[in-house]
Amino acid sequence: MYDIPFLDLPALDGAQGEVTLPGSKSISNRVLLLSALCEGTTVIHDLLDSDDTRVMLQALRQLGCEVQALGATVSVTGLGGRAWPTQAIEFFMGNAGTAMRPLTAALAVQGGDFTLKGVPRMHERPIGDLVDALRELGCHIDYLGNPGYPPLRVGQPQLKLEQAIPVRGDVSSQFLTALLMALPLAAAQRPITIEVVGELISKPYIEITLNLLSRFGIVVERQGWQRFVIPAGSRYQSPGSIHVEADASSASYFIALGAIAQGKGIRIHGVGADSIQGDIRFVQAAERMGAQITSGPNWLDIRRGAWPLKALDLDCNHIPDAAMTLAVMALYADGPTTLRNIASWRVKETDRIAAMATEARKLGAQVEEGSDWLRVHPLPAGQWRAARIHTYDDHRVAMCFSLAAFNPDQVPVRIEDPKCVAKTFPNYFETLWSTAHARASAIPVLCIDGPTASGKGTLASLVAQHLGYHYLDSGALYRLTGLVARRAQLPLEPGHAQAIASLVAQMPLRFDGQQIWLGDEEVSAIIRSESAGMDASQVSAFPEVRAALLDVQQRFRRLPGLVADGRDMGTVIFPDAPLKVYLTADALERAKRRHRQLMERGIDAKINVLHADLQARDARDSQRSAAPLKPAEDALLLDNSHLGIPESVEWVLKAWQGKRPPTLV
Ligand code: C5P
Repeated sequence: MYDIPFLDLPALDGAQGEVTLPGSKSISNRVLLLSALCEGTTVIHDLLDSDDTRVMLQALRQLGCEVQALGATVSVTGLGGRAWPTQAIEFFMGNAGTAMRPLTAALAVQGGDFTLKGVPRMHERPIGDLVDALRELGCHIDYLGNPGYPPLRVGQPQLKLEQAIPVRGDVSSQFLTALLMALPLAAAQRPITIEVVGELISKPYIEITLNLLSRFGIVVERQGWQRFVIPAGSRYQSPGSIHVEADASSASYFIALGAIAQGKGIRIHGVGADSIQGDIRFVQAAERMGAQITSGPNWLDIRRGAWPLKALDLDCNHIPDAAMTLAVMALYADGPTTLRNIASWRVKETDRIAAMATEARKLGAQVEEGSDWLRVHPLPAGQWRAARIHTYDDHRVAMCFSLAAFNPDQVPVRIEDPKCVAKTFPNYFETLWSTAHARASAIPVLCIDGPTASGKGTLASLVAQHLGYHYLDSGALYRLTGLVARRAQLPLEPGHAQAIASLVAQMPLRFDGQQIWLGDEEVSAIIRSESAGMDASQVSAFPEVRAALLDVQQRFRRLPGLVADGRDMGTVIFPDAPLKVYLTADALERAKRRHRQLMERGIDAKINVLHADLQARDARDSQRSAAPLKPAEDALLLDNSHLGIPESVEWVLKAWQGKRPPTLV
């Protein structure tokens, strides 16, 4: 189906509330492997659900671990104290580096008959330094393809543990992590020493490894960053249960949100200032820019403090990923902000220095860049431009620039390819919408009006799904009104209109996906009957009822946008909507569709009766004096008598794109 390749963020004017962020990938996969190597069961809370963790879970199952998942809580019963598998096993590791490296090391140290493969890209990612270190140790590993790269075959080792084991530290810290997690398997009788060759990079990740090992009973002695000793008698011990911290780099966007947006503050659950992740030091950088931050063991509270934010000159080597967020905060600062020592940005998902500079300039900012630094000048009110942000298949570029929507000029921001956030934070935008707010008039509404059985409901809910917007089925509100009036034994007559309208204001209604609830009762099916439709048609002619439902309907206008279907969405409820579609089909065609629907539900009906009913309802809807059914003057007409559903959806999405602000740079 037609894919909308961008997300338009309306101008946002504040944010407050609570967010729970996805678990850290680095912690999730380490905890999974350690749990598998222990004796007993470990209950893992808040595990990240991503491609990489799924690959690891599958491998653990193949090894014979019992894995049970209940939402984000996964329990793993480890292999410690049990027979290690002797049969040949082939593992498919996808493109998950954080699973491939440590698992290879653990399997090689323990021994067996194992093959490890991945997607073609995995077979281009080097693993030679880890294999060299493991061979040095006496492990048996063969390359099945190109030397130095997966796929690999692992056999039985003859471990030589007397000498220190050398491993390169300057290529990927994952090699050292892999050895640190695997070697306790062999340290029952004697201590084992690992020696890092070359300068160790990404030390914060080794700290995570050491920290988690200690939670699992392995206390590694560290001599500087050069020698690591696993003491004799080391044995994995399950902590029983363990919480995976929320990802600290993901937290940076919500820390920035709290620092930028007006409101009562943001609470982040799942990660606190005592986090074991290096990127948590973003908290100090945000505080230096003016954010007011308090924290507890598993939470952070952020409020706007200094405003404008205070400019910063910072060596960002310790927080390479989170520091990108500072580049966007800099737009709201009181002077130029310089981020230094960020050469690694150039070799990430994209050249991040170039990307941040190019996109910030589109917003109107003045930006300077060097080989390993970036300087962003603040962007004063009056100079912001509505921009189209290219995201380079880089999740962080997309998330960072969403923060530009708080600009003082109320210009919208378009994020291209918004789905790229799935790499680490699949529901990033939904999380943003749950806290951010905007003026109602800035929140886009797409109206789809038309007569009964024109297919508005199906079309509108599909369009809403596609755009990630909320959906209002206004007909359901009139159907509910009819139901409530019937239950209160009120005749559906003009003399009782005021009494019916008073009931409307108190209806305890709740929409939950496709389900519609009245208090504790799910009424979705009851209100879909033909007689409920006729009742709705009657009560909807009362001006009092329509007035009572006005506010109820307008409250559906929430971020990031709304698709509303009914009869008067474009004419009365949302007259300022940027797109109004009037959907129709000839009456006989509609009667046939309704007939098909009813038959599918096992309800007997005659087409000619339905046809007559439809015409009666059309006549009443268009002749009533209160909000008669008619196309809004600025509505686009769509006759779908001979169009399928996907074609109609595509038609509306194209019309929607055509209505987007034209001034984007
Ligand atoms: O769209 P649906 O068939 O669910 O609507 C039920 C009835 O509610 C319609 O026949 C129409 O009379 C009334 N209605 C309305 N205004 C709306 C939506 C529905 O008058 N916005």
